[in-house]
Amino acid sequence: MTEQELKALETACPLVSTLAAAEEAVWVNPERVPFAQANGGLPLTMADVDDAEARLARFAPFIMQCFPETKAAGGLIESSLTEVPRLRDRLNQRCGSAITGRLLLKQDSHLAIAGSVKARGGIYEVLKHTEDLALETGILTGTEDDYTKLASPQAREMFRRYTIQVGSTGNLGLSIGIMSAAVGYQVIVHMSADAKQWKKDLLRSHGVTVMEYESDYSEAVKQGRASSDANPMSYFVDDENSTALFLGYAVAAKRLVGQLKEKNIPVDAQHPLFVYIPCGVGGAPGGVTFGLKQLFGDHVHVFFVEPTQAPCMLLGMGTGKQNQISVQDIGLTGLTHADGLAVGRASGFVGRVMMPLLSGAVTIQDAKLYDYMRDLLETEKIFIEPSACAAMEGVVKLTQAPETIGYLRDNGLTEHMENASHILWATGGSLVPEEIREEYIHTHLE
Ligand SMILES: *Cc1c(COP(=O)(O)O)cnc(C)c1O
Repeated sequence: MTEQELKALETACPLVSTLAAAEEAVWVNPERVPFAQANGGLPLTMADVDDAEARLARFAPFIMQCFPETKAAGGLIESSLTEVPRLRDRLNQRCGSAITGRLLLKQDSHLAIAGSVKARGGIYEVLKHTEDLALETGILTGTEDDYTKLASPQAREMFRRYTIQVGSTGNLGLSIGIMSAAVGYQVIVHMSADAKQWKKDLLRSHGVTVMEYESDYSEAVKQGRASSDANPMSYFVDDENSTALFLGYAVAAKRLVGQLKEKNIPVDAQHPLFVYIPCGVGGAPGGVTFGLKQLFGDHVHVFFVEPTQAPCMLLGMGTGKQNQISVQDIGLTGLTHADGLAVGRASGFVGRVMMPLLSGAVTIQDAKLYDYMRDLLETEKIFIEPSACAAMEGVVKLTQAPETIGYLRDNGLTEHMENASHILWATGGSLVPEEIREEYIHTHLE
């Protein structure tokens, strides 16, 4: 983008100046419409989410067999929803926010197998591909068959002939890599420069081939796609365009309905639900949002949070250019301590689906990630990784920024905030090694 083009874009869309200056931004989505109006135009439906949920249920016996730690949950990979009132008080005190109602943490940070939200989409896509192959080759005779057959030596020998590849900043690679290796596939994970060493080491210990690149996530995806396209026995997990990943994430919403009921938390016009999700390329937060909107419609309000140096989704949605623009185009580095969010160009597919659904987005400076991490650890004794801590900026800004205060007023929500519930989507953390946790706890940025 030339200087002139950037100037023109800033004039047309003042938000771009804030993003280009790497200043914290608060954006309310002007394109959001009532859910009933939005739903008809969406490329996916609730039936697609139900289908994904049913597929995960079919695989539960197989998952239990491969990962005994999932036995207690009957082979379902699900996380708990935990009330964190002490964190709410701390945020109000330290950050001067005025959060009322309940504050909850959705602990995808502690999902089995992959320790991040990627255990939803990533594992689902590997299983879907496995089912397709098994039906094609006759290992399974139909979807009513016994799925534990997939763990037989004969099945494993068949899967060994196939390769799975993926580009990742770290956590998607962990999820795809660990699950694919468990099924028996050859796995190649193409890691961007942001990926942490411990994630590469962990993958290699599972027999996964890790390719490392000096470049960012988009380049790792490109290399992975090319390498996979060159091999007819290889399947590429396309984080930027995959509907399978998206639907795997969306299943989270169905599970959340039961968890809210269990806690007697109503969601209706008088009891609004606010959800804050860290966003990278968009698949995880987009899929979860799609599911939530299907189930709670206009009573759920979802905000994404991105790093000031990598606000790719906000840039794409805010300018309407979607994946036709990157954060590098407006002079940002794309470099951030939030490795899970270090993405320069958003998914165009997700951005378009989010246009009529998403309430808004905010950006956060890296230094705050560590402060929020310590807030949660000190008040609730729960550790989540820096990327996941971005969620907290969403709830803090909600009651502070003129834009979001306006959103509450314009949507008739202000008088219901005492009855509101806020969910921080904690997207990762349980696999972070002890010595790295220590390092994070002592990290103080300017
Ligand atoms: C991947 C990831 C996200 C965001 O998911 P995207 O699909 O890339 O938008 C958020 N937090 C963590 C910890 C992640 O690993």
